[in-house]
Amino acid sequence: MTRPGSVKIREVGPRDGFQNEPEIIPTAEKIRLIDSLGRAGFTRIEVASFVRPDVIPQLADGVEVLKGIDVPDDVALMVLIPNSKGLDNALRVRELFHEASIFVSASETHNRKNINRTVAETMADDRVMAKRILEEGLTLNAVIATSFGCPYEGKIDLESVLTLAEQFADMGATEIGFGDTTGMANPAYVADFFSAALDRLRGVELTAHFHNTRGQGLANAYAALEVGCSSFESSFGELGGCPVPVGSTGNIATEDLVSMFEEMGVDTGLDLERVIESAREAQAFLGRKLTSHSILAGPVDWTGSLAGHP
Ligand code: ZN
Repeated sequence: MTRPGSVKIREVGPRDGFQNEPEIIPTAEKIRLIDSLGRAGFTRIEVASFVRPDVIPQLADGVEVLKGIDVPDDVALMVLIPNSKGLDNALRVRELFHEASIFVSASETHNRKNINRTVAETMADDRVMAKRILEEGLTLNAVIATSFGCPYEGKIDLESVLTLAEQFADMGATEIGFGDTTGMANPAYVADFFSAALDRLRGVELTAHFHNTRGQGLANAYAALEVGCSSFESSFGELGGCPVPVGSTGNIATEDLVSMFEEMGVDTGLDLERVIESAREAQAFLGRKLTSHSILAGPVDWTGSLAGHP
């Protein structure tokens, strides 16, 4: 498998990132940042979750956010649907988004702690939701969390992850994302994983979603790319994270991922300067230093413009 010449990157900061911010971000600020991202060239942005507002208060304003967004027409807005009740609420504003994402954890324990159900119960409900989502003419995406390891169960069997992915494909998912929810993946395993997954799930778009918990996010993205993965998710400013393990950092930073790919000659279709600008806007608003590298260093400068400086 040769390295893809271009990749798609979905920006997930407005959902996966904001969700983990302790202070409530005002709706108008969320809209401003999403609009800013929409001008950076993204064609896919995850913008809201229809989870119960008392579970994640930060995302309680999802409908208002969707109503306020003003991005180019070719930007597909994705929402996360946790259960049938969430889908009911989402479909009331069906005209405001394009893609719906359903999910499960590959780990029984993580799934139970996250949504208080068994994997089998979740997949049964996901199948019902998938049918309704497709009937609405929406694009169906599916996500498998803890695909590369679980903090409760340790190693997650590759075969069990691929079996779940095949079930999602059978439900009609056009895209399946594999989440390294707590940053346990390493590049060697990622290469084996995506080689096997791309071979088994032909015709389905397979998306890599890495967290930079242990600083290996970009190495993992590179490993996935090299075996043919051409779809990625990341979060501007490296926003996001997961409460387990405590203190873990977020998703890989979109601007670092874009910088790496573009420097390698892999087309992302994104305007790196604008992505960095969006991340800087988020940093200024949140009032704390974000952990992305490019936010500080900026894009690589090949013009030698620092010549003459000490
Ligand atoms: Zn994530």
